[in-house]
Amino acid sequence: MSDNRQIKIFDTTLRDGEQSPGASMNLVEKLEIAQALIDLGVNVIEAGFPIASPGDFEAVQQIASNFRGAEICGLARSNERDIDRAWEALKGAHDPRIHVFLATSAIHREFKLKMSPDEIIERAVAGVKRAKGYCDNIEFSPEDAARTEIDFLCRVVEAVVDAGATTVNIPDTVGYATPEQMGKVIDSLVNRVPNMDKAVISVHCHNDLGLAVANSLAAIDNGAGQIECTINGIGERAGNASLEEVVMAIRTRNDAYKYETSINTQRLVPTSRLVSTVTGLHVQRNKAIVGRNAFAHEAGIHQDGMLKERSTYEIMRPEDVGFANTDLVLGKHSGRAALADRAKTLGFTLSGEQLQSVFIEFKKLADRKKDIYDGDIASLIEMEILGATEKEWALVSYNVDINFGQTPKISVTLSRGDEEKSVQLADGSGAIDAAFLAVEKITGIGLTCKEYSVRSTSLGHDAVGEVSLQAEYEGKTYRGRAATTDCVEASIIAILNATNRAIVANR
Ligand SMILES: [Zn+2]
Repeated sequence: MSDNRQIKIFDTTLRDGEQSPGASMNLVEKLEIAQALIDLGVNVIEAGFPIASPGDFEAVQQIASNFRGAEICGLARSNERDIDRAWEALKGAHDPRIHVFLATSAIHREFKLKMSPDEIIERAVAGVKRAKGYCDNIEFSPEDAARTEIDFLCRVVEAVVDAGATTVNIPDTVGYATPEQMGKVIDSLVNRVPNMDKAVISVHCHNDLGLAVANSLAAIDNGAGQIECTINGIGERAGNASLEEVVMAIRTRNDAYKYETSINTQRLVPTSRLVSTVTGLHVQRNKAIVGRNAFAHEAGIHQDGMLKERSTYEIMRPEDVGFANTDLVLGKHSGRAALADRAKTLGFTLSGEQLQSVFIEFKKLADRKKDIYDGDIASLIEMEILGATEKEWALVSYNVDINFGQTPKISVTLSRGDEEKSVQLADGSGAIDAAFLAVEKITGIGLTCKEYSVRSTSLGHDAVGEVSLQAEYEGKTYRGRAATTDCVEASIIAILNATNRAIVANR
């Protein structure tokens, strides 16, 4: 056992991360990510903001009652309704935590809350006490703490710790802090707040200036004991501190950062892939730790050095963060066990029933295509398990007739339950536009497409084409994804996927 100080990893992928534009997730997707976070070994899962919507409430409740091995946390503003609702969602948890927040900076006090400093303290204390009536494990966040006058921040922190907060989180809500400044704020709390030893200090840094990880490390160097972060650094605007970067900085530079985390680092890449698949937020190739190029050596001199001795140019081993040694190819003769194994490597945990339905689709794909790669498998799982959870409209058949320079003719048949509806039209600027119009005509839901992309999930021209799109309906953005070897078919399914999400969300 080393005597390095243990740093708690508080993951907020399901709460702050879900606030990334266009990244909203459905229940099945959230449960899949929660399982991956448990396997990764995070200490706290912030599962959502229960009062925000019925969907958020249900997700927190399901995660709270189904997962053990991490504290399950729900967010609440500092008022009775929010806190009561949070507890309602959390009460089935083995190890629940209520996270209460209230803004403290002058700019938020004056313009957002219109409250005096004394009123803020009163409201914060009342919130913590209310939460404390439900459970022992209470986190309090003074929102915009990094821009709060330090004297006032110390007063707030002392008061909430007195009221029973066991963790005090210092958020750099707008991503404005520098590492030196963040370090000083934490140092001031440690040295000036008389009861600071009764609570853990946490930090929650946003990445607007690309400093979130550096700010988080400066905070633990000055006494913080918890870092709030997300997989792939997703979150509001430029995102949060990236979990994989924080964890690998501590591990790789243990000479400088004498701390430990409980993270199973070999699960970093699979978890990153899962979050990227589920949210549709692709990871940039040169992203530290989990980017596709993070361990690719291009320069001849580097390659030569690597062949002679890996440590010449390699500070971490790819296998330590979960990059598989080979991009194993599956095919017609691969069995269920091989498929389950690849799914796990890709970040998914499939139940027996799920594995069976993915296996059936896998066999169908193997008939259409010789080699099946990781990207193909991830898409299959996404289609079978995650994407298709809103069971509303489904594609029965389509036919499209396109001639150069002419308006396309399309006929589409969709089903919903026992009902089947067809439409034929000659309209649109191309096959995809025509598909949108046909789907709209049948479902009555007119989506405005904001983003549309097709990419290949693997190699070769028989590769699976993955269509992902973002479309707007009544002011909200919905994602749609689908992957098949036929791009028009994939486009129609992706449109239906987004349409179904919109239907369910507007019920
Ligand atoms: Zn945040």
